[in-house]
Amino acid sequence: MGGKDLATDSPVGKRSGRILVVEDQPDIRELIATILRAEGHEIAFASDGEMGIQMAQRDPPDVILLDLMMPKLHGYQVLQALRTHPATQRCAVVVVSAKAYASDKRKAMEMGASAYLQKPFDAASLRALVRQQLNKAVLTFWGARGSIASPGPTTLRFGGNTPCVSLSYQGAQVILDAGTGIRALGVALQAAAAGKPLEVNLLITHTHWDHIQGFPFFTPAFVPGNRVNIFGPHSAEKPLEKVLRGQMDPEYFPVALGDMAATITVRDVGMEPFQVGPFTVRAAYMNHPGMTLGYRLEAPGLTVAYATDTEPFRTLLPTVTSGADVAQFGRSQDQELVELVRGADVYIADAQYSPAEYAKKTGWGHTNYVDAVAIAIEADVKRLVLFSHDPMHSDDEVDRKLAHCRELVAASGKQIEVTAAAEATPLEVFVP
Ligand SMILES: [Zn+2]
Repeated sequence: MGGKDLATDSPVGKRSGRILVVEDQPDIRELIATILRAEGHEIAFASDGEMGIQMAQRDPPDVILLDLMMPKLHGYQVLQALRTHPATQRCAVVVVSAKAYASDKRKAMEMGASAYLQKPFDAASLRALVRQQLNKAVLTFWGARGSIASPGPTTLRFGGNTPCVSLSYQGAQVILDAGTGIRALGVALQAAAAGKPLEVNLLITHTHWDHIQGFPFFTPAFVPGNRVNIFGPHSAEKPLEKVLRGQMDPEYFPVALGDMAATITVRDVGMEPFQVGPFTVRAAYMNHPGMTLGYRLEAPGLTVAYATDTEPFRTLLPTVTSGADVAQFGRSQDQELVELVRGADVYIADAQYSPAEYAKKTGWGHTNYVDAVAIAIEADVKRLVLFSHDPMHSDDEVDRKLAHCRELVAASGKQIEVTAAAEATPLEVFVP
């Protein structure tokens, strides 16, 4: 065995996890347990589908290894139940089956399986798959719409909730913004906690309604024993805490911030780096009305940049100043955003307008998607996620925006994966 040990070479290293094996054949259960216990993982067993669902919902594990052909409920039924229950909808589920048909594999993936492992498997493949699931980062978009919630038949696929993104990595939960999307995230987090105390970190970019309006409906903040750590910019005049309190004033909302039962801390942050779970967070001020931050989160093996609600400085600068090189000044200001997102594994970008719309809405604080692509190319990011969809844009329009951005990237010759943030569609990033 001269091969390199991927686990110790990984920047994340070995992370042990809690694995639930849903499998009716005792010899296979034992084989899996022997292989994974040697890696330091904690193993629990369910010998049929029904028992698998009950155990997973009672105490959601990190990874579920799921057989397909089992008594009581088969694997697809279990998968469907796991994916529709808030406690388990985000668990990693690896289907482990003797079925070799492409159609079965495709069906499992369509129904939300994280991976498919063909039986008989070798120990190295099982170890590698489990490690991949434990080391992955999952970004989930709970709201990707800018400005105002816009539910309705034309926004079903990309969603109508305002900004909220969750990032789970190495057991830590980081939330980016508290738009209306945070309500459903709160329900999911609370269910997945299965009665244990929860600690979440919430990074607010700025306090326009669409970035804080969901917070009063964030269930974990109402549960005693939970901790909610909030970070964000001091407004022109007030600390962040005062602004958050303001939106829960009795004139606007029936429950005051101070009456929420969790331990809530609110910290003003600016350009000085700070630590949130495994992440070192750096921030830069965006070009948006009021004080607005974009964030860069760095942990071993993973960098995520979240820079929404901004537009290029150079498009807004007055054209006449006494002899100054305005174009050069604008470019140097815009360079700060490029540096914030440089080399990121994922760059979540303001891409609200088309070029034609931006021409009419210059100065409204949002970006033309062509500029978002240009920043991604210049900063050499690995993935670009188009975010802050305009409330007037239907799903078909977002599709067209995405197609155009992909063409622009292809024309540049860069290898950047481009997606458009879609509500409830997670983006998994596998950390080597
Ligand atoms: Zn804003």
